Amino acid sequence: MKNELYVNGSWTGSSLEQINVTNPGTGALISTVPKAGKKEAESAVDAASDALSDWKQTSAQERSGYLREVYRLMMEQKEEIAELMTLENGKTLADSKAEVVYAASFLDWFADEAKRVYGRKIPGKHAGHRIDVLKQPIGVTAAITPWNFPAAMITRKLAPALAAGCTFIIKPATATPLTAMKIIELCEEAGIPEGVVNLLTGSASDITFVFMEDSRVRKVSFTGSTEVGKMLIEQSAAQVKKLSLELGGHAPLLVFDDADLDKAVKEAAIAKFRNGGQSCIAANRFYVQEGILDAFTERFVEKVKSMKAGDGMKEENDIGAVIDEDGYEKIDKHVQNAIEQGANVAAGGTGSAKDGAYFYQPTVLTGVTSDMLIMQEETFGPVAPIQSFKTEAEAIELANNTPYGLASYVFTEDAATGTRVTEALEFGVVGWNDGVPSAAQAPFGGLKESGYGREGGVEGIEEYLETKYVARNIE
Ligand code: NAP
Repeated sequence: MKNELYVNGSWTGSSLEQINVTNPGTGALISTVPKAGKKEAESAVDAASDALSDWKQTSAQERSGYLREVYRLMMEQKEEIAELMTLENGKTLADSKAEVVYAASFLDWFADEAKRVYGRKIPGKHAGHRIDVLKQPIGVTAAITPWNFPAAMITRKLAPALAAGCTFIIKPATATPLTAMKIIELCEEAGIPEGVVNLLTGSASDITFVFMEDSRVRKVSFTGSTEVGKMLIEQSAAQVKKLSLELGGHAPLLVFDDADLDKAVKEAAIAKFRNGGQSCIAANRFYVQEGILDAFTERFVEKVKSMKAGDGMKEENDIGAVIDEDGYEKIDKHVQNAIEQGANVAAGGTGSAKDGAYFYQPTVLTGVTSDMLIMQEETFGPVAPIQSFKTEAEAIELANNTPYGLASYVFTEDAATGTRVTEALEFGVVGWNDGVPSAAQAPFGGLKESGYGREGGVEGIEEYLETKYVARNIE
């Protein structure tokens, strides 16, 4: 396993200052990676820029073939990649395996989409006039990704970029660089030509500043916090650089009186506790209608009490580690604030933080109100706060009362209620009786302060294409 930078087809950077990579489940040091800065970032942009002219001339079938091979390798090495991910991220092995399959699905999907980049012909202004619409790769693209999905957040940028004919530079989160290195190793093994994919680990702002300042980088795709996303918007203004931003969420989960209780409890637990709640689409605010409140709460609490947080490598644990001390403190702050303001702890409510390993037990809070911190901010942890509502209109108002607009969930068996509510929710993704709405074939992305741009679906490749038209006078 390589633990270096990958620039212009070479592994490099071992002589640079090194950054420690630790296991959040044990606090142990597992590796070190180079701390790249401005100089290395510039080399990566040079490499991606030099490789562009050949890469964009390759046929769609050829690019598709490379992506399909990376997909095959990723599926073949699924277990090994999942273990690496659990070591550096702390999530359970089950979550890691599910993520590897999900990450690979973007390679599979965009291997096909590469072949479906169609232009179009538009009737001209008169008999001797033609208009042809061309779709062309944007050029050099750069990606900045978070630690919570160390593989999938990369493949859903890398796969459409390469499929479109763009070259690519990835700067993964400093907490989880090893999975990224593994993915790049697979790209190398698949024979992707040098300079087409490049990887930089190190100082976030030094590296990304080069992306934003160098006019050869035509697009930056970012997944992470709304705070950093807003900084990138400001930095992009000077060159009107194209951005895709997948930012924070604060997902509401609505359970109506006519919900199927078994389904609602099962899917809500997945929507909340998958990835230990450290997911941008994790259900963060539970709103349950009064008629089903007691039944839902009782069943949900029973389920949550059967779950346990601990070292992700051990099969007995349902939830892995919290990524770091800051993450742990935010979760505990939300829980303590809710308790101080009158919420009850129906399950969990405690954690442990020692020797660099952080765990928070799956928690349910009842008697929650809108003014509590947890109903206003993304928690990014395994806590389900439950608030009741009376009417459909009230539920919609509560759900939409946030600057975020990424994911939302609705549980109802009534088609009319479901249709009205899903249409009224101001979120880019709505799961209707579905706790895991993400899929490579769907256009994932947010509204409002959750960002702009879409990943996955037919929309995903459009993000890496320019639209040009040629007006032709043949008279
Ligand atoms: P973050 O602090 O914004 O970090 C994300 C990435 O940005 C990392 O690679 C980080 O590098 C880099 N970064 C940090 N400071 C930067 C700066 N000043 N300029 C440029 N890049 C910078 O977010 P996070 O805490 O890792 O991730 C959690 C957040 O991501 C949550 O809000 C979550 O909702 C969001 N998220 C959104 C989606 C989505 O699809 N909408 C998916 C997953 C996560 P370093 O690691 O080196 O600091």
